[in-house]
Amino acid sequence: MRKLVAFTTLAAVAGLSLAAAPKAPNQAPNAEAITASFMQDVLYFLSSDAMEGRNTPSRGFDTAALFIASNLAQWGLTGGGDPPALRDPKQGPLAQFLYHIELQSSQVNAAASSVELAGHQYGYQSDFTSTNGAAGQASGPLVFVGHGYVEHKQNIDPYAGINVRGKILVVEGQPPEMVAYESAMLAYFRAAQSGDSGAARPINALGAAGSDFLTPEQYAAQNGALAVIHDDAPNPLAALLRGPATAAPNNSEANPYPTPPPNVPTMEMTRFQPKTAATVPSIVAKAGLWNAILAAKSDPAARATVTVASDVRKARTEDVVALLEGSDPVLKKQYVIISAHLDHVGIGRALNGDIIYNGADDDGSGSTGLLNLAKAFATGPRPKRSIAFIWHAGEEKGLWGSLYFTRYPTIPLAQVVTDLNMDMIGRSRAANDNNAADDRLTKADEIYVIGPQVSSADLERTMDKVNNSYYKLSLNHFYDRTDDPEQIFYRSDHVNYANQGIPILFFFDGVHVDYHQPGDEPQKIDYQKMEKVARTVYAIGWTLATEATPPRLNAVLPPALVKAMAGAKAGNP
Ligand SMILES: [Zn+2]
Repeated sequence: MRKLVAFTTLAAVAGLSLAAAPKAPNQAPNAEAITASFMQDVLYFLSSDAMEGRNTPSRGFDTAALFIASNLAQWGLTGGGDPPALRDPKQGPLAQFLYHIELQSSQVNAAASSVELAGHQYGYQSDFTSTNGAAGQASGPLVFVGHGYVEHKQNIDPYAGINVRGKILVVEGQPPEMVAYESAMLAYFRAAQSGDSGAARPINALGAAGSDFLTPEQYAAQNGALAVIHDDAPNPLAALLRGPATAAPNNSEANPYPTPPPNVPTMEMTRFQPKTAATVPSIVAKAGLWNAILAAKSDPAARATVTVASDVRKARTEDVVALLEGSDPVLKKQYVIISAHLDHVGIGRALNGDIIYNGADDDGSGSTGLLNLAKAFATGPRPKRSIAFIWHAGEEKGLWGSLYFTRYPTIPLAQVVTDLNMDMIGRSRAANDNNAADDRLTKADEIYVIGPQVSSADLERTMDKVNNSYYKLSLNHFYDRTDDPEQIFYRSDHVNYANQGIPILFFFDGVHVDYHQPGDEPQKIDYQKMEKVARTVYAIGWTLATEATPPRLNAVLPPALVKAMAGAKAGNP
């Protein structure tokens, strides 16, 4: 009974705007199925404290994913997730919508790691660190091999005439190309850590590791060397990636909401690091150990024992994927992808006593809009092309879910005509808001659109045509470029689709005072704006899925995108 009262109140509030809503253009036959009241009901669930900020991976995130799947199943949509053999029977009709991603993080066990040389014992962190986290024990003579990189194009082979089998490689310095590449990667990861995600991935001038060149670790693994010891100068990148030697103790029993220790290594998608080649322990020696190693250079009998122990933690998360088959026997082979990220940043540092980062706008709003779009498409007429609705995991961790999906797609990416991505569509700037942190927040009838002016004038024409015949939202192109200093183009899941050569259109309301703060809560959302934006996305999606000719990529693309497209192609399995 109480619920019904609440529902009636919400419906009445929503009704105020419905009366004033323009009639949906005929290219959007079921737009009225998208309502502020439905989205309110969904978003108050997805961004409730019970979801604990939907961190990847977490029980709160899994709960949100099952909630999405449960709705999708009711509307008769088809799953686009795990193949039948990999589905969990305990998840019944929901399993088809879940596309699992295996995660792994490993951390060096400092207490169990050591180096022994000339009767001295050296400790982890005080005397050395690991560059690759590879665990193992290696005992053998030292062999000094310069920088240790084999560069095929330059005919550089530091190992000519040296048999490394059963030995420990000692390497000093790096080729200048590697130094430049690692510095660029360091900046890339720092950017990723400070924002929603990072910039375009730097490219190594030496070419591809393993084919164009071999790292000392790769050469060691292929030629029977047991371990690699580096001097302290290079590898700032490796140090950053591996993080500190020990994590803060897992005190989850005592405190259900531990503050995550800073700089703990993020989880890795294990399918991205296939164990095709054996790895050897690789360490960086600090000054004391390094001096002892140099002293041993003149002693051909000098032996060392390198022990690196590591604790591995496995977990899994999932994208949620639903498919709607198109009505046209030919065009249904093509897809429009509509995406949002379901995750947020979880539980963290308290602000005003609040430790749950609810992520109502980021990206509960996009996830909620996407769910209502799925409902509108599933319960209304079908467009000619098929639609894939995708809720991504791990966006906040580095666009994991979309990277995974574009690497291991469950639909043919060559048949995807566009990705429409919604990441933050629920906040608006009030006229009397003088908070400088809200300077870039869009107004109630405004939204940033990113992508068309980067890569597809066709897509911009379709977008404008639909919008001009509908809500006439103010479509702001401020971030619609690849060279904006805030790098918005690179900071959500659409960029992984763009890198695959797919035209993309990203809807974004702008950074605001509650961005990535515990105060990003559902009561601050402008549900009327969400309704307008989601209906507009629906109408654009409908048009793209129905028009005879899909949008083409521009003949001339920004060099950064061309480069990223080539990089994605090279990285595809
Ligand atoms: Zn986001």
